[in-house]
Amino acid sequence: GSTLEIKDLHVSIEDKEILKGVNLTIKGGEFHAVMGPNGTGKSTLASAIMGHPKYEITQGSILMDGKDVLEMEVDERAQAGLFLAMQYPSEISGVTNSDFLRSSINAHREEGDEIPLMKFIKEMDETMDYLDMDKNMAQRYLNEGFSGGEKKRNEILQLMMIKPAIAILDEIDSGLDIDALKVVSKGINKMRNDEFGCLMITHYQRLLNYITPDKVHVMMQGRVVKSGGPELAQRLEAEGYDWIKQELGITD
Ligand code: ADP
Ligand code: MG
Ligand code: MG
Repeated sequence: GSTLEIKDLHVSIEDKEILKGVNLTIKGGEFHAVMGPNGTGKSTLASAIMGHPKYEITQGSILMDGKDVLEMEVDERAQAGLFLAMQYPSEISGVTNSDFLRSSINAHREEGDEIPLMKFIKEMDETMDYLDMDKNMAQRYLNEGFSGGEKKRNEILQLMMIKPAIAILDEIDSGLDIDALKVVSKGINKMRNDEFGCLMITHYQRLLNYITPDKVHVMMQGRVVKSGGPELAQRLEAEGYDWIKQELGITD
């Protein structure tokens, strides 16, 4: 499996420092959850990993299998095996979901190793069945008029077909009803193997009732302030974040 290493990462947006030294290592076979109150920089972390131009890395490093991710263009990050659910534009008129999916898969592959059309169609059909997706979703324009639940299922469809080495899922559970949450979780759980590592960013413990993380990290004020096992998420659900703030002497 691959290893994504984030070391002492500092990130600024418009000269305001948001991330203040994040350390995290995710390996193939591991599921990590990052939790934390709103506005602590969780999405900033995801965007910085994927190379969003608005996020300035002022210090630290991100390595994928020892290679400097920060030196890579966005498409090179995909080729290196990184996947971010939010990397996809919200709507693209005139591009069908199916065409977009096929070019995304190929963007994650070496040149000359593109997925054959018939294999693609068969896999897409099977995966859409698995995710209880309406078949006409394939021929609709990307995300145009998709409901919240359809968008998330579609992201999991992309994940399952691209089969990245490391995925970063930012609030994949937000806005989902319980049926959609179960389907999305089923898809992510199906990905579990030694060649796949996952970082799930979530505000709520709810997702973790369906996907058991190996490690849980709490982010506050731009840093990972606490790490533990699944029991940490349960304690957060029961008691909120105040006890951690007290433990660490954080005031806000
Ligand atoms: P979280 O995902 O934990 O809720 P975010 O990473 O979205 O937190 O935001 C962290 C901080 O960075 C917040 O104070 C937010 O207002 C600020 N921020 C995030 N994105 C931008 C942006 N594009 N422009 C300006 N400020 C931003
Ligand atoms: Mg937020
Ligand atoms: Mg966020």
